[in-house]
Amino acid sequence: MSLSYSGNLEELHDRRILVVGAGASGRSAARLAARYGARVVLNDGNDSLPPEDGIKCVFGGHPQELFLDSDLIVVSPGVPSIPPLVAAESAGIPVISEVELALWGLRAPIAAVTGTNGKSTTVSLIGELLKTIDERVFVGGNLGTPVTSIVDTPAARLPVVLELSSFQLERTPSLRAKVALLLNVTEDHLDRYESFEEYASVKSRIFRNQKPHDHAIVNMDDPQALKQAAAAKSQVWYFSGAGNPDAHFRIDGDSLVFMPFSMEIPVSSVPLPGRHNLENVMAAVGAALFMGVDRKAVVPVIESFRGLSHRMEFVGEIRGVSYYNDSKATNVGSVVGSLRGFPGNIVLIAGGRHKGAPYTPLREVLQMRTRALVLIGESAPLIERDLEGIAPVFRAMSMHEAVSIASKVALPGDSVVLSPACSSYDMFRNYRERGDSFRNAVRYIASTMETDGEKSSR
Ligand code: ADP
Repeated sequence: MSLSYSGNLEELHDRRILVVGAGASGRSAARLAARYGARVVLNDGNDSLPPEDGIKCVFGGHPQELFLDSDLIVVSPGVPSIPPLVAAESAGIPVISEVELALWGLRAPIAAVTGTNGKSTTVSLIGELLKTIDERVFVGGNLGTPVTSIVDTPAARLPVVLELSSFQLERTPSLRAKVALLLNVTEDHLDRYESFEEYASVKSRIFRNQKPHDHAIVNMDDPQALKQAAAAKSQVWYFSGAGNPDAHFRIDGDSLVFMPFSMEIPVSSVPLPGRHNLENVMAAVGAALFMGVDRKAVVPVIESFRGLSHRMEFVGEIRGVSYYNDSKATNVGSVVGSLRGFPGNIVLIAGGRHKGAPYTPLREVLQMRTRALVLIGESAPLIERDLEGIAPVFRAMSMHEAVSIASKVALPGDSVVLSPACSSYDMFRNYRERGDSFRNAVRYIASTMETDGEKSSR
């Protein structure tokens, strides 16, 4: 007999648990289930992975009988809906995320964050704020340390900050967030969802199981976020980067105003660039205050928060041109977010693997201020077509060539921004490798220019 969806770790005893995906979170889930006496199989399509001590591993394929002979399947976020998984689900076998399994063993208040863009930045900031209560607070979910690893440790009783992608939200039925944040909903992952409506509606699951005394924090400027928030049974608080006077958290002149807490903080205390980051800060501070962080702790944490790598990360300046690495901008909405409110003229390096959404929403933020577009990767022809007439277009075969072209066309005072609007998998292993390659190319160009400068001054 199958297990129920929202379970209890003790129920795992002697059950057949299949964990699909042998990355860090799959391995952590497998270890947890094994510790509770389950008969665990760890499965992955890749046959060159190291085994996991004490756990039966089936690598190199996904045998259907393995799936159908399970009481419960734990699936990692990167695993697509392969036929045996679909068959198991149709046969009524529960399929859950690693986060769901962890929730069965956590007794902690949860701040949960979702949205198309800004999740990691917001989650990290909430984490930094909560660490003023206790250093051991867990911060993770979609990336980083697997949340199953804290079950049965002291961190399981402390507040937890979770980043949840759409895929995880679909498979985490026991989620009940004390504070649930919906940052924005723009087109992404259309290669995995049937329609934008389907993708958008999954986001409302961040509010599932909330009680009237829980809190929802929602972007008032985003029509889809507002629509999804109608599902919330909790108290809904709105933030607005556009300064909407009805919002509870908003930008008002030089201040960020937090109405429910009668609190203001100066915009100048936020070191992160761009209005999108002010939105992330408002949402994060609101969440942290509802989670019990002391108001006096807020400004020092904000002032020292430098953001994460590969998100509008300043790489350096060469001959008056600034270089920014925004490799994590893997969809159109994130590029709009990054460039909206970004000052000056830009040379944009974009392109990579196409994810299904049109690039036309970029026209507005690029109009009148784009010195040139340097396009890389598989999507270059599509971007060129959608952005026709915006600026001169150059094609490059490698990141190195792209940065080299950009450095030649940029004028002093301009910024060269790598903000690809696409995933990286056509040319790189992931967005981090793509960002590192950009950084290296910028450093190389800086070194050649220094040498040129030395030569000419001699
Ligand atoms: P996620 O974890 O949702 O991918 P990140 O914090 O890693 O979000 O940021 C991803 C990209 O989205 C970055 O390149 C950043 O420039 C852009 N971005 C960050 N916050 C926002 C926001 N609130 N709205 C739109 N774009 C954003």
